[in-house]
Amino acid sequence: MFENLSERLSGVFDRLTKQGALSEEDVKTALREVRVALLEADVSLPVARDFVKAVQDKATGQAVTKSVTPGQQVVKIVHDELVHVLTGDEDPGKLKIDNPPAPILMVGLQGSGKTTTTAKLAKRLKERDGKRVLMASLDVNRPAAMEQLQILGVQIGVDTLPIVKGEDPVQIAKRAKTQASLGGYDVYMLDTAGRLHIDHELIAQAAAVRDVANPRETLLVVDGLTGQDAVNVATEFDDKIGVTGVVLTRMDGDGRGGAALSMRAVTGKPIRFVGLGEKMDALETFEPERISGRILG
Ligand code: GDP
Repeated sequence: MFENLSERLSGVFDRLTKQGALSEEDVKTALREVRVALLEADVSLPVARDFVKAVQDKATGQAVTKSVTPGQQVVKIVHDELVHVLTGDEDPGKLKIDNPPAPILMVGLQGSGKTTTTAKLAKRLKERDGKRVLMASLDVNRPAAMEQLQILGVQIGVDTLPIVKGEDPVQIAKRAKTQASLGGYDVYMLDTAGRLHIDHELIAQAAAVRDVANPRETLLVVDGLTGQDAVNVATEFDDKIGVTGVVLTRMDGDGRGGAALSMRAVTGKPIRFVGLGEKMDALETFEPERISGRILG
């Protein structure tokens, strides 16, 4: 998921660690290269700039050039700063789902992987946390999307709300809530309709559902391959609907990883999970330490 960035950075750091003694200028040059590598990975400019400045300040503060292993120290500072940039306030994998039935609202553009992610997450909640989950599709304009969720439900052994023709999304959300209460479910997941672009109808519908469901978590699903666009989509969704976290999908693709690095810094919202394939198990918690390790190789 970060192959190119990882390769670029390891080039920079190999040179740095092999060099032995380092001057302030050597560190500056290396950090300039880090900045270029970040920008090429589609990390947003202010994030790349702040990142390099923070590393530079720490390297100066810790008198890196005077240490015995200056190269390694710089790598360590970069690692810590990566973790810092990626870390939110809370444990990304821990969803707020006490007080059953807890509603989780899933939002995002059409094609982002929202329905797939809803099912992946339901499977995870069922298998790892032992939760009883009910899934409901609110995509009344696309019957195929409703059927897709139903098929995935059968595949993973998670119940879906029966499809009733003619209902609007708010009515479906209310029915899901009733069914979840009566059926003793721990969690009910509302898979809202996506559209190709963020428009008035999409936002109005998601907001109306949010207002009746009062979700404990609102997870935005975005396509990680779209780089800075993913960050822009997240900013807009958060402004208009309010989200509690982001799921970045298609991180198995040859994306440059910039969306992952910019997301929290730009939107203030943490990435909670990453999608790593089409299979129902291809969902991972977003763990900054591990991601940073992957980037630095
Ligand atoms: P929705 O319109 O947002 O509900 O999108 P879907 O859930 O229908 O997903 C669209 C396509 O993307 C499907 O073919 C999924 O299998 C695929 N997809 C979803 N998540 C991932 C992922 O993390 N990696 C890959 N490679 N494909 C994914």
